[in-house]
Amino acid sequence: MSRLRFEIENQSPDSQARAGTFHTLHGPVQTPVFMPVGTHATVRTQSPDSLRACGSTVLLSNTYHLFLRPGVEVFRRLGGIHRFMNWDRPVLTDSGGFQIFSLPHSRKMNEQGAHFQSYIDGKMHMFSPEVSIEMQVAIGSDIMMVLDQCVPSTVGHAEAETAMELTHRWAIRSLAARQDSPQALFGIVQGACFPDLRKRSAEFLTQLPLDGFAIGGLAVGETKSQREDTTEFAAALLPKHLPRYLMGVGTPLDILEAVHRGVDMFDCIIPSQLAHRGAAFTSEGRLQLRRVLYKFSDVPLDDKCDCPTCTSYSRAYLHHLYKAGETLGVKLLTRHNMTFYHRLMAEIRGHILAGDFASYYRTKRLELALTDNSHETVAQ
Ligand SMILES: [Zn+2]
Repeated sequence: MSRLRFEIENQSPDSQARAGTFHTLHGPVQTPVFMPVGTHATVRTQSPDSLRACGSTVLLSNTYHLFLRPGVEVFRRLGGIHRFMNWDRPVLTDSGGFQIFSLPHSRKMNEQGAHFQSYIDGKMHMFSPEVSIEMQVAIGSDIMMVLDQCVPSTVGHAEAETAMELTHRWAIRSLAARQDSPQALFGIVQGACFPDLRKRSAEFLTQLPLDGFAIGGLAVGETKSQREDTTEFAAALLPKHLPRYLMGVGTPLDILEAVHRGVDMFDCIIPSQLAHRGAAFTSEGRLQLRRVLYKFSDVPLDDKCDCPTCTSYSRAYLHHLYKAGETLGVKLLTRHNMTFYHRLMAEIRGHILAGDFASYYRTKRLELALTDNSHETVAQ
């Protein structure tokens, strides 16, 4: 019996898109859903009130970073992440696998786990499936992820296979380590861009009593069409009655394409990362607020958006904040970009429920191509 009781409310005809709801220890989540990334138990520049107001229903936080700072004891003594950061809605924690295997710090790994050096104080740590679950239990996330060995999606077959097999053995150990915790646990299908490995991974993991499945190892070097093909192939191998999560993806267009292929959950740093660089998603495409052409622009960032940034400030003011290096600019643009993502998800869900997602998808993907292929050049 799944700990999330996922219910599908509608399955789109002529598409794999579905709308549903799952139930966590901190309330329900409607899907398809976008999860803002709160790396250090905060979504940079955004208060929990701001996140709630712009429509965030579930946040992602990073076990690896929280393990190094503030550390497991802080969560044990202070009672978990919800109270710690004043966020009363669901939280998903990743396992730390992606950070351990992608950050440029010395590490050594074996069957037991990964040994790595802290980027904070240089101390050596060991991260195993058991340590990851112990940390995620202390954090008190609603959804935990199994520790996986994350390799670039462009590696050869042998390397991808070895990492996938280790990920499978670690999934069994993660489940055992969870014991009777009421927290949900997701498995991660690996196998780079090799269909035979993705198939084996899905077949193996779906035999285990996990509460949902992630498609891992994408958005790390493959082409857009490889990502879409692998997503489509892997999603079709997963059980219909459990949530499917595409880790680390992506742009608004990537998300639309993945929903069409049957994915329910997403996380990505793009809306905050682009805000830090002065870029905003708008109904006219992606805008770069640092550009001098906005110096005298007395119009809202996006006149089709009702977020406080768009209803209160001009493009000229936002441009000025970026030129002056004021953090309010980042805060206002992050708020707007998050609103853009959540509005997109609500619109997608609305069309799936209404039964006309397939025609919406065909039109919307052309519109979103504007935000995907835009002038990202930063005129400093
Ligand atoms: Zn706005």
